[in-house]
Amino acid sequence: MGQSCTLTGMVLTSMPVGEYDRRITILTRERGKIAAFVRGARRPKSTMVAATNPFCFGEFEAYAGRSSYTVVRASIQNYFQEISTDLDKTYYGCYFLEVADYFSMENSDCQEQLKLLYQTLRALSVKSLSPHLVRRIYELKTLVYHGVYPNVFSCVGCGKKEDLVWYDRARRGVYCENCARGGGMLKLSPAALYTLQYIITAPITKLYTFTVKDEVLGALDRIIGECMEFAADRPFRSAAFLPE
Ligand SMILES: [Zn+2]
Repeated sequence: MGQSCTLTGMVLTSMPVGEYDRRITILTRERGKIAAFVRGARRPKSTMVAATNPFCFGEFEAYAGRSSYTVVRASIQNYFQEISTDLDKTYYGCYFLEVADYFSMENSDCQEQLKLLYQTLRALSVKSLSPHLVRRIYELKTLVYHGVYPNVFSCVGCGKKEDLVWYDRARRGVYCENCARGGGMLKLSPAALYTLQYIITAPITKLYTFTVKDEVLGALDRIIGECMEFAADRPFRSAAFLPE
């Protein structure tokens, strides 16, 4: 076995292998997304039974092997049980895990993505927040971390920072009234523009602190939904279970 290390992270996926074992992926602070083998994780008396479920967040003691890690111990700080006891929250939570899984890689810096995922799962339990809005905020912030977010700060045509009233769906950027051309353009209200700018720039701790009117949510649906389709080369399986 290779060297032992302690990794802080969240279980994204968990699959049974063999008779008693599991293969899991963990989004870690230290090494990005890793694949790990957990021997005996399905033996009823194993302490690893509960620690290898999706959403488990904590510290994992692991050995690095040639192609994957072996996790031997875990100390779970948050199981996010409130998510698994509510069907809607489970669907949203699974989607958030799938998106994080898609955009993360081994040995890349995933610290912000991990923090975002953690805060987003917590936001699912805030009664005043609609999970639908939480979804759009999470998606846009994820796109920001991976450098594929829309330009909503200056006109694509002339660079001006004021009077940004149109969104060009093909160019994924905003236009001022003077530069706007017909076709594929979406009228953008000041509130929708401000909300997009806010999500892109706000620190994670300030992300889930607001609600929006239906008009703004509709604009976020179209703009962020299309940006997600552009950024990913396949649809997300778990998105099919989310309410419209
Ligand atoms: Zn312009």
